[in-house]
Amino acid sequence: MEPLTNWAGNIAFRARQVLRPHSIDEVRDLVATAPKLRVLGSGHSFNRLADTEGDLLSLAGLPRIVEIGPDRRTVRVDGGIRYGELAARLHAEGLALHNMASLPHISVAGAVATATHGSGVRHGNLATAVAGVELVRADGELVSLARGDAGFPGSVAALGALGAVVALTLDVQPTFELRQYVYENLPATSVRDHLDELLADGYSVSLFTRWTSADVDQVWLKRTEPRTGATLFGATLADGPRHPVPGMPAENCTRQGGVPGPWHERLPHFRMEFTPSSGEELQSEWHVPRVHARDALAAVAEIRERVAAVLQVCEVRTIAADDLWLSPNFERDSLALHFTWIADTEAVLPVVADLEQLLGPFGARPHLGKIFTTAPIDGYPRLADFTALVDRFDPAGKFRNEFLDRLLG
Ligand SMILES: Cc1cc2nc3c(=O)[nH]c(=O)nc-3n(C[C@H](O)[C@H](O)[C@H](O)COP(=O)(O)OP(=O)(O)OC[C@H]3O[C@@H](n4cnc5c(N)ncnc54)[C@H](O)[C@@H]3O)c2cc1C
Repeated sequence: MEPLTNWAGNIAFRARQVLRPHSIDEVRDLVATAPKLRVLGSGHSFNRLADTEGDLLSLAGLPRIVEIGPDRRTVRVDGGIRYGELAARLHAEGLALHNMASLPHISVAGAVATATHGSGVRHGNLATAVAGVELVRADGELVSLARGDAGFPGSVAALGALGAVVALTLDVQPTFELRQYVYENLPATSVRDHLDELLADGYSVSLFTRWTSADVDQVWLKRTEPRTGATLFGATLADGPRHPVPGMPAENCTRQGGVPGPWHERLPHFRMEFTPSSGEELQSEWHVPRVHARDALAAVAEIRERVAAVLQVCEVRTIAADDLWLSPNFERDSLALHFTWIADTEAVLPVVADLEQLLGPFGARPHLGKIFTTAPIDGYPRLADFTALVDRFDPAGKFRNEFLDRLLG
């Protein structure tokens, strides 16, 4: 049998088998009887976070739930649904999520478990939309937590450590349209002098660079209002659709050129119809407090040639502060420096370690679903509270694995 791997193929799971329940009762039975297990979402993490030597539990086969609340301010979804499917269903109902990640193929429960984020100075990460969590804890009991409950801030971005999330309630809002514009060749001096204005110039703003020069290759603006200028702080409006990695097919990307379209067809960079079955890439990402944005970028520029040698593309995004204990954005507005590496772990790891050294002094927190080498993680002031919550929900460590042991001690 082919080994089961994550999406990127850099992790071969050690699990004995993948269990695929079709009802919440079945999940409860499987969790109660398994000695050791982890839930697997859509497998888009780049490290051993989802791994186990016991069984993996996939909730993709649970009956789909998309239940809109009577006030149309929330939606309850099952623990296996992916953003792409949910987004289309919400839009058809005249509703929207506040933000999305770069691609719609990831599962909602898996994404919020690692505090996955999009961009936008006013938008929290995707986990901040969670208003309620329903999970099956280690003894098979179904437990519900809602915003405002003690322990709730530790139960959303919870890395699958508390149990199997079988349903989530998410905040929603009326559907809206966005226009996406790509500008090219942003001078380094504009980053130095106008970074805050630039990052706030849209609903969602991303900077893409390969660090082959100090200039930024592309600026992706997702705006509610049209933008008429042909230039943006010295960058020039692209004359056609672009992929973030120059030379890659732009038809995989969401519509650009300022054409208005629904939120879920503009917020992700990549289209749902384009199915990336497996990726020739690795990813790392560090979040620094936004007040250090300029200095953190300048620090990366110091070693840009080393970075560029193993890089496909780097994306710079912003995320608003939140109160979720394991969120990299806990109590601080953040700038996220994301690196899509070439698919060569050995070549990439030394550069990851260099970046950790450089960004550490800015209080960098790693994206816990990507590649990082520091352990245990510093800078999460509520880590001890989270560990206590894990011990309460899973006293025998059924959902623990090496990754969590390293993190939680
Ligand atoms: C191409 C690509 C693009 C990406 N873009 C972004 C981006 O724009 N922004 C960003 O922040 N990240 C991004 N990521 C990272 C990705 O969003 C995270 O790794 C996310 O956690 C993946 O979700 P998943 O469903 O694949 O989870 P998995 O990798 O399968 O699992 C992640 C964690 O969630 C837990 N989990 C999953 N489902 C459940 C459940 N039902 N109950 C309990 N625990 C569960 C697992 O146990 C594990 O701990 C990207 C990754 C890839 C491969």
